[in-house]
Amino acid sequence: MPELPEVEVLARHLRPLIRGKTVRGVTIRRAKVLRPTSPRKFRQSLVDAKFTGLSRRGKYLQFQLRAKTGGKPVTLLGHLGMTGRIYLARKNACPPRHAAVVLDLGRENLIYEDTRYFGRLTLDTSAVKRLGPEPLGSAFDKTAFGRLLKRSRQAIKIKLLDQTLVAGIGNIYASEALFRARISPRLPARRLTRSQVARLWRAIRKVLAEAIECGSTVPLNFDGSRPDGLFYFGRAAGVPDYYEERLRVYDRAGRPCLDCGGLIKRIRQAGRSTFYCPHCQRA
Ligand SMILES: [Zn+2]
Repeated sequence: MPELPEVEVLARHLRPLIRGKTVRGVTIRRAKVLRPTSPRKFRQSLVDAKFTGLSRRGKYLQFQLRAKTGGKPVTLLGHLGMTGRIYLARKNACPPRHAAVVLDLGRENLIYEDTRYFGRLTLDTSAVKRLGPEPLGSAFDKTAFGRLLKRSRQAIKIKLLDQTLVAGIGNIYASEALFRARISPRLPARRLTRSQVARLWRAIRKVLAEAIECGSTVPLNFDGSRPDGLFYFGRAAGVPDYYEERLRVYDRAGRPCLDCGGLIKRIRQAGRSTFYCPHCQRA
């Protein structure tokens, strides 16, 4: 599932490619992904609009466009859900079976594809208003973070997935940040000491920044259908496997901890997998 780093890398990849392009036509195959925007409103707002920018907020892509008539700004919000992909494809290429929305940009199509349709491509931007601070920005304040943790009885791993606490962390980077901070995923959020809060705050920023760096340096396969464990999008064909141990605990159950050699364990928390080292993360 794509989290902040994957969405950031995608935004950086797409931004220069779509800037200045005009939407000539809109094909909607799965109206569900537009919700609550109606297909009619979606088409009306986007046809003849021009892409002016693309930014990321949490796990959301925010496409900025300008409407042809009146030049009104339009924001198109994208969320990849569990299995979504957004990429440019040559016009003459046959759209894939799971293409939910296709925007005709002239020589190319911007394709939103999702095999499970949990994602969104919508004009409704209310979801981003509820998000907490960006973890890599200056708004992510250590003291405020600690104060919010103090109010929660939830296990810290589960609390980190709360997008109102901090935006963009999902199952992978929650496990990774807790490992780096040497904190047990089961520890109730309000029990974290001040030094644990500080370690976690730093670890969150570190794992996310490293993941963006990794995704920015390795050529990725943005429209590939099979992620290879390196990154959500998977590596492009022919790129050597330098990043085998990029993730230190996630999806490594039963394998040796890279720090202590003990075995990484997998547990279920709120219905989802958590990976951790019981030796390194005792506190
Ligand atoms: Zn360990």
